[in-house]
Amino acid sequence: MPRCSKCPKKAVVGLGYCGLDLCKDCFAEFFEKRVWKANKDFLMLRRGDKVAVGISGGKDSAAMLHVLNKMAKKIGQIQLFPILVDEGVHGYRPNSIKKAKELCKREGFGLDVVSFEREFGATLDAMVKKRGQGDDEFASGACSICGVFRKKALEARAKKLGATKLAVGHNADDSAQTFLMNLMRNDSARLVRVSPAHAEGGLGLVPRIKPLVYNLERECGLYCVVENLPFHLQECPYAKESFRGTVKDFLNLAEEKHPGVKFNVLQSSLLLQKTLAEISPRALREGGSKKCKICGSPSSSGVCKACEYAKRLQLE
Ligand code: SF4
Ligand code: ZN
Ligand code: ZN
Repeated sequence: MPRCSKCPKKAVVGLGYCGLDLCKDCFAEFFEKRVWKANKDFLMLRRGDKVAVGISGGKDSAAMLHVLNKMAKKIGQIQLFPILVDEGVHGYRPNSIKKAKELCKREGFGLDVVSFEREFGATLDAMVKKRGQGDDEFASGACSICGVFRKKALEARAKKLGATKLAVGHNADDSAQTFLMNLMRNDSARLVRVSPAHAEGGLGLVPRIKPLVYNLERECGLYCVVENLPFHLQECPYAKESFRGTVKDFLNLAEEKHPGVKFNVLQSSLLLQKTLAEISPRALREGGSKKCKICGSPSSSGVCKACEYAKRLQLE
């Protein structure tokens, strides 16, 4: 490894897409600066905020909690409340809960664990066994079921806590993947609503913030190592069967051959989201202009996805 591009120390990481080789300390500073930039660009943290922080035990949310904790102390009068959703995935979730508890203890927080079983009457494993064999979104991937219930569980707990923001550990890779997925699904309303700038807050939901939107997934892992944060490496066993998994493999391959591709997709998505929101503010509301007649959550039709899935899975 060559010398650090910013100081005389030995570099530990090469960031080919921006031509920088960085030592441990300069990398940590570089990583944190990007979170501060996201905070400035998308007006994320404000004095007086009560921030529910979605934690998974993995590298992204570990890096996020650590940086948010530093930022909260610096800005002042910000409270953080880590929440973990236990979907009930055998052989995977129990180990990640252990790591998440270790992390929260280290950062000086308790950990609020919300389980699918308690909230919805069944674990994700049980739901997956119950789903039908059709070829629609519901039957094809565990992640579509998981995502809908996880969002609902996080939102409900954040609301109960009186949170003013809900922080999720979506990194730059996740945002680029989501953008491509929405394009491939021809879902233009979601294209706008998932933007970190709009954060789905105008729909009666707790505004979501994505502090890691400018940090690559690989860099989140490296930051955890450099900062000595406990995190769980294992991947969820359902991840490979998802549409996201396919898009992720494609973007990783493209990035390997053409460094900078992920950031190019991300920048295009942010620009397009901003433009779409300006020319068509209605698109922001379309996904949630009505209320679910069962649970009262914002919904694009009379019944929200979570209530629709609960009915199809015959959950109590
Ligand atoms: Fe849920 Fe899919 Fe993530 Fe597993 S990979 S936790 S099933 S969204
Ligand atoms: Zn350095
Ligand atoms: Zn509902």
